[in-house]
Amino acid sequence: MVARANFSEELRDLSAHMLGKMDILFDGKSTSEWPKGIKIDTADLGPRVTDQQEIGLRLSHGMDCDRVQWYKHNEPQFHVPPPAMIQLEKFSVGDLWEAYSHGILPHCMPTDWTYINAKNMEITLRGIKGHLDGLIINKKKKWLIISDSKASSGFRHKKWTEGHKPDEPWGNWNQAANYCYAMDALCRRDTSKYHGYKVIGFVWPALVTGGFGWDLAAGWATRQDIEPWHKKTQDSYRRAKSLASPPIRWQHTNVCKYCNFRQHCKKDSR
Ligand code: SF4
Repeated sequence: MVARANFSEELRDLSAHMLGKMDILFDGKSTSEWPKGIKIDTADLGPRVTDQQEIGLRLSHGMDCDRVQWYKHNEPQFHVPPPAMIQLEKFSVGDLWEAYSHGILPHCMPTDWTYINAKNMEITLRGIKGHLDGLIINKKKKWLIISDSKASSGFRHKKWTEGHKPDEPWGNWNQAANYCYAMDALCRRDTSKYHGYKVIGFVWPALVTGGFGWDLAAGWATRQDIEPWHKKTQDSYRRAKSLASPPIRWQHTNVCKYCNFRQHCKKDSR
């Protein structure tokens, strides 16, 4: 029997190297000392206007409650985007971190590894779309890692990096699973420029925000780690597509506060 390759060490070493380099850039230098060629593109910052056509099941949202998934697939017209001020509060640090990541990560890679800004590269898995953030590739070995920059609280980052626990409610691992499987499918297509690459895992360069200051961190997951999350996510998409009406049980949780279907969900639950 052929043993399954375990890429934990590769991902752990790459994450540690990347974090060390990020630390030097952010903690050890002013931006005027940064190597030439680091370009921070902040053009996309600010509130976004979501096209109603674009509401639907998404690979990055595999964690949403079953009711959200159902509404997205069946009644997207009830999606109410958050006010611009809430969007700014909720997304601005994350968007800024993503812009900085694209600029600095090419300078934080170990030998033989290259960071590629894959912003807006579309991937699909069983008809559900997603958009990548970054790819880290090793051309010699034909290995590929999916990178997705995250800004989060320390509590949240800890939960993510302890992702084997089933109580990670924000969906980082669901997203990791979906993206890896979708990228796998792409790497099998002989028309893809990544044809023949092996997807070995997912990393998230992180900006950890908190009352006592901000810090840098990095998390990672291997393909083996995320397999159970892939199944959970696919089950949730399947329910959204197959149920004739939204799942009956409405559990009001903290997440509901930020849900774009909350107004409709409340009415619908009575
Ligand atoms: S308001 Fe809460 S229960 Fe209703 S769809 Fe949104 S997250 Fe789910």
